[in-house]
This record gives sequence, structure tokens and C-alpha cells, in this order.
Amino acid sequence: METHRYTEETEELARAIVAYATERIRLEPTLDGPKPAAELRERVGTTITEKGVGGLEALRIFVEELAPACISTDHPLFTAFVPAAPTDASVLFDLVVGASSIVGSSWLEAAGAVYAENQALRWLADLAGLPPDAGGTFVSGGSAGNLSGLVAARDHAARSRRKRPARWRIAAVHDAHSSVWSAARIMDADVLPVPADERRRLTGENLAAALDEADEGGVFAVVATAGTTNAGIVDDLAGVAAVCRERGLWFHVDAAYGGAALAAPSARHLFHGIEVADSLVIDPHKWLFAPFDCAALLYREPRIAARAHMQEASYLDDINVSGEWSPSHYAFHLTRRVRGMPFWFSLAAHGTNAYRDAVETVLFLTRQVADDIRRREYLELVTDPELSVVLFRRTGWGDAKYTAWCDRLLLEGIAFCLPTTWEDERVMRFCFVNPRTTAGDVTALLDSMA
Ligand SMILES: *Cc1c(COP(=O)(O)O)cnc(C)c1O
Repeated sequence: METHRYTEETEELARAIVAYATERIRLEPTLDGPKPAAELRERVGTTITEKGVGGLEALRIFVEELAPACISTDHPLFTAFVPAAPTDASVLFDLVVGASSIVGSSWLEAAGAVYAENQALRWLADLAGLPPDAGGTFVSGGSAGNLSGLVAARDHAARSRRKRPARWRIAAVHDAHSSVWSAARIMDADVLPVPADERRRLTGENLAAALDEADEGGVFAVVATAGTTNAGIVDDLAGVAAVCRERGLWFHVDAAYGGAALAAPSARHLFHGIEVADSLVIDPHKWLFAPFDCAALLYREPRIAARAHMQEASYLDDINVSGEWSPSHYAFHLTRRVRGMPFWFSLAAHGTNAYRDAVETVLFLTRQVADDIRRREYLELVTDPELSVVLFRRTGWGDAKYTAWCDRLLLEGIAFCLPTTWEDERVMRFCFVNPRTTAGDVTALLDSMA
């Protein structure tokens, strides 16, 4: 079987792939950008053939045609959505994970990897102040984490309440992440919308009022956000936690983006109350310098999650009786890449102080950018940034002007920025996670809005 024999050709391909990967890691990436499907069809054509095009040719197609049609999320001026900034160590180790064929479902199959992943999870749990028994698993992203956490929450409610409500409900404010609404739809639950306060946060007071008004019957969980995607705002976690405790509701904290700032002493105070979360999501692939895809899902009482998620079948008996930690029990998944390993490797290699410093660097950059905006007559901050998202307006500009400015920056390979909507107004949004982004880089962008 040619496909499974390591030949001289394989050796040549190995050298080419390692050379390309090393260069991609070593050099600052070009920004690149999407191309229309018709153009890709014309340039690339059909790649899947009966005889195969050969490894080197397939690699050439990727390097010359496909990769340039994908935006580099780790470019220092990728400021749209939530960018990525994986460490070199984590990306290098991702190659090792790929080469190792470890299935991260169970202790039986992956004890060594799960042991290491659990130490990385423990670091996050300690940052949040969760108890020693807390634990969970790495899943593909915040969306998967929110869904799995909420499924565990409902399972818990369904088992502990005597009566099933007509409709299950999740309490959240409008600015909670779209995946919360998606999770509710998948679970055939409704979202009880809670009005936000004047800073657009979910607060304990507003939550209590909304629950009273809605006579709370079917509410089983409250989702608080620690760092909204749109504006980087942290909800009143302590206030919300108190209401949840009082009323026996599951307290889920979505810190997919913002959770990284738990590592930063200058921002830690914003998260007061997170230590009593029943479930918590933090995405290392966002602001903790891990490659895609890597989200940490933690539970205060993991056995509750295992009751909800453990799959049972004769062919799984050996996994389930082992009594050791099996990641498949803690989310909706079975086969699983050990996607926490690149994060673990980099954390082990660099140490946690380096992570603290890298997150602080991004927070400092954000404050510098905010100051820069305050100094310019033609710009205005929309809100003072809490974490690393900056919302601002260019006086006299509307949606069309913002879009044209962003389009040009992408076309010229300078930056990938996108506007957003804030209180029905189109405004500009920068999200920073990359410690290599400099204030000077951003100054040049702001200059170009003059
Ligand atoms: C990004 C984000 C998510 C979704 O995470 P994915 O990894 O994209 O699935 C959920 N919640 C918040 C607050 C986010 O910023």
C-alpha cells in the first residue's frame, strides 16, 4: 500500500511540509484574503482525481492558491471578530499532536494526554477560583462549550425538580453570545430576555426583577458573560451569582473571549463572583495563545455533567468502568482530538508568568489605543474599554464609509477590521489579542481615518 508506506517520496514531502510550516511560524504572516468561488474554481480547478496529483503538487496548491485565499487570523492587524495569536511553541506542538494519533475520549486510551490537559484545565480553574474538585474537558469552541454546559444544567434541573415546566428557559441579556440562542434552539428551550443596565451588563438586580416578573417556572440556568464579544464588557458576576444561589439556578459563565484576563492582575477584579460558577467556558484559541480549536469547559461538580453526557453502550463499557477521568463524559462528543495539548505544551514551556505578561501587554496596548483615540478630534470613544475591545466613532462617518475604509485595508493587505452596531449606531470596533500588535501599528490605522 503506497498510502501507508514511508518511501523516499514521503521523506521529500516531509521535508517540504516541515520547511513550509517552519517558515509560516517564523515569519510575520501576510494578511491575505478571500477570493470569489469562481476565481478559485478557475485557478485551482479540480484537486480530487482518481490517480492523485501527488503530495508535492497538493502542497503547492495549498501554498500558492488556497492559503492566500484565507485571512491570517494571527496577523497583528487582524482586529475583526476575535483574532488569534498562538505562540510558536503551541503551533509547533500542534504538529506533534497531529502526528501522534491520540484519541482523547478516555483515560484508557489517552491517560498521558488527559493528565496533561487536566493540568492546563486546573490552571484555568485556579485562575477563576473554582474548588479543587472542579474539572471538565476541552471542546471545539465556546459554542460547543455553552451548549454542553447548558445541557448539563438542564439535565440537573430535570432530575432535581418534581415537575417539568411547559417550557424550559435560559435567562440572558441581549448582548450574550449568539451561541446561547443557538443552544436554546437546539435544546428546544426559550431565552428569558433580561434587560441590561445602563452599561449593558446583566446585573443581579435586573435578573431578580425579570425572574419575578416571569414567575421563573421554567428557568433552569442563567448565562452571564465575562467579556462580551461585541464590546468586551463583563457582567455583574457577583450580583448574578447571588441571585442564582438564592433561587437554585445554574450559573453558567461564558468567558470564551474574556476569561484570559483572569490571568492579568490589572483586570482580575472585574471577575469577582466567577468563583461560584456552576459551569465556565474559556477559549484558549482566542486570547490564550493556542491554535484552533481549543475551548476549556469547566464544571464546579463534574459528576453532574457526566450524568448528562456519558454515552452508554456495550462497546464503551471498558471506558466507563475505569473510574478514571474520561473527557468524553463532560460534553457532547466522543472521539476527540487532544486539542488542549498545544495549549498545555506552551503553558508548560513558557510558564504562567509569561501568559500573565502577554495578556497584560494586550490590555496595555488597548489602553494606549483608547488614549490615542481620545486625543484625536475626528474620533470619539463609544465606551471606555474594559478588556481589549475598543469601540469608537469617526465623526461624520456612517456604515458605508466604515465599510469602504475596511474593504480598502483588507484589499491592500494592511489590516482586517470590521465595524459593528452599538445602540443602533454603526461604529468601529477593534479587538486585540496579539501581543505583537504595537501601538504604532494602530496609530497608522487611525491616521488613515483623518
Ligand atoms: C467567541 C465567543 C463564543 C463562541 O466561541 P466559538 O469558539 O467561536 O464557538 C461564545 N461566547 C463568547 C462570549 C465569545 O466571544
